[in-house]
Amino acid sequence: MKIQTIDLNFQNVPHAIAAYLVTGPEGPVLVETGPGSTLPALLEGLATAGYAPQDIKHVLVTHIHFDHAGAAGWWAQQGARIYVHYFGAPHLIDPSKLIASATRIYGNKMNTLWGKILPAPAENVTIIHDNDTINAGGLTFTALETPGHARHHHVFRLGTVAFTGDAAGIKIPDSPMVGLPAPPPEFEREVWQETIQRLREVDVDTIYPTHFGPTPQTDAHWDKLGQLINDSTEFVRAQMEAGLDRDAIVAAYLDWNRERAAAAGLSEALIQTYLTANPLAMSVDGIMRYWRKRAR
Ligand SMILES: [Zn+2]
Repeated sequence: MKIQTIDLNFQNVPHAIAAYLVTGPEGPVLVETGPGSTLPALLEGLATAGYAPQDIKHVLVTHIHFDHAGAAGWWAQQGARIYVHYFGAPHLIDPSKLIASATRIYGNKMNTLWGKILPAPAENVTIIHDNDTINAGGLTFTALETPGHARHHHVFRLGTVAFTGDAAGIKIPDSPMVGLPAPPPEFEREVWQETIQRLREVDVDTIYPTHFGPTPQTDAHWDKLGQLINDSTEFVRAQMEAGLDRDAIVAAYLDWNRERAAAAGLSEALIQTYLTANPLAMSVDGIMRYWRKRAR
């Protein structure tokens, strides 16, 4: 078994979004597709590894956010089988609602950021539940329901490694810092803390966050992420209670995160990688929505 990290070079920024090519005894499996906009980079990475698009028969996606599964419909239309959470599956089959809500957020940047979002033929979509096993490429993946970042999120365990999507946060190579992607509408602080407890107990030595690349599974990683979830949500709550409007909170959150990055010794280039992988305004929206939901 061999795992290759393909850098999708999202927005011409290296180490922001990965796809993973896992080669088993019976062929290749793709974990995450990235968005449609990075399909040329993905196909180039696969070609370098010796694969044509039609060689990819199995595609696992941790969740349906565009940076993870935006190109899943394209792959399904090529005949690949897509394995996806039961909440996410209907939106891969008919992405119109996702496209409409994303267009409200991204406007005319939609195409540059995400490219084409194509519907996946239903017969090529396999719906996955917690603890399901997926046999692909002669390998056995186990899906672990891991909500918190999104309600519809799976981590895929494969032997001594786990593909963690966004559930382990963001960890860019050569950086000691963990980043928190907390987008609307499904970010939930307590639910994610429960997911961290679950993942701590999964006996793997390496985790593969989609942002970006393999990193050792350690208690320190989970400690940092758990602390960051609490600190970030408390920071935003304090700004809301102080009466700041959304844009002012975004500015304050950006400053606060820059201070964290500086304290961790990150270069400006690394900070830009974190910001490309995880636009912080989205997290402010996600956290504000979380608090408003809680208040109701
Ligand atoms: Zn996500």
